[in-house]
Amino acid sequence: MAKNHVPGSSDVGTLYDRMSEVLMEALGDNIHYGFWDDDNDDTPVREATDRLTDMVAQRLDLAAGARVLDVGCGTGRSTLRIADRHRAHVTGVTLSPREVQLAMTQPGVGLGIGQATFQLADAMELPFPDGHFDSAYAIESIAHMPDRGKAIAEIARTLRPGGRLVIQDFFLAHTPTPRELEALTAVWDIFEFPPFGTQKDFEDDITAAGLDLVAYENITTNLRRTMRLIVSTLRSKAEEPEIEKETRDFLAELVVALEQLMATGIIRHSLITARRR
Ligand code: SAH
Repeated sequence: MAKNHVPGSSDVGTLYDRMSEVLMEALGDNIHYGFWDDDNDDTPVREATDRLTDMVAQRLDLAAGARVLDVGCGTGRSTLRIADRHRAHVTGVTLSPREVQLAMTQPGVGLGIGQATFQLADAMELPFPDGHFDSAYAIESIAHMPDRGKAIAEIARTLRPGGRLVIQDFFLAHTPTPRELEALTAVWDIFEFPPFGTQKDFEDDITAAGLDLVAYENITTNLRRTMRLIVSTLRSKAEEPEIEKETRDFLAELVVALEQLMATGIIRHSLITARRR
């Protein structure tokens, strides 16, 4: 059985330097899952991923001028969207220099009434003072962090009392069977994840960081279509001759691992809303 390695921050940064543009292509410029009401909902992927951003923003309860932290901002589409729509000042942090570059050149930077800024920083050691932000969100980023407790504590430290944190992430739906663990381990190893936590693990870290849980919403079935779209884009990229061989092999390996994982029901997606005490 494959053995999961614990990724370092530079491994995660390098992964996104390499993968962000492919994922943007699969997911309509966001690097996160789309939300569909049900199987009959034919919303295009770009709108479906923006819809998830809007659901996160809604739960942040933002006032105009709010200072917001985007933890693991990817290439910044959600950062810019929230800054524009809520007239907020949003700071996006990522481990990938390429993502910072891509985020700075996304259309709309500096044009809206709100403001988005991007910087390289590790969420487990945030370069911001205590109580600096009115709210924070993390879309599909905390799962990459080997010390989840430290990351959540760091985010909590930078929030003012009463400030909200919204997380959308991957959780273990139950204790994995040996077959599920094998499928998980392959994806963890290729995509630089430490082992995923359960809902309870996240809740414990949130509470220990001085936050109260406001809501926990299981949105697994609404997000399910996303993985099929990712796999289909990765599969066609793996066959493009102009892409270098090493990357094509990497993508082909990833497709196999993701398909195996998709066949299990081990992943749960949830929106968690918490509030700093
Ligand atoms: N939230 C973005 C991107 C999700 S992809 C979106 O919704 O489009 C995961 C992101 O988390 C990447 O940008 C990666 O660099 C970031 N990330 C992972 N671990 C991190 C850490 N320790 N500190 C800062 N960013 C991190």
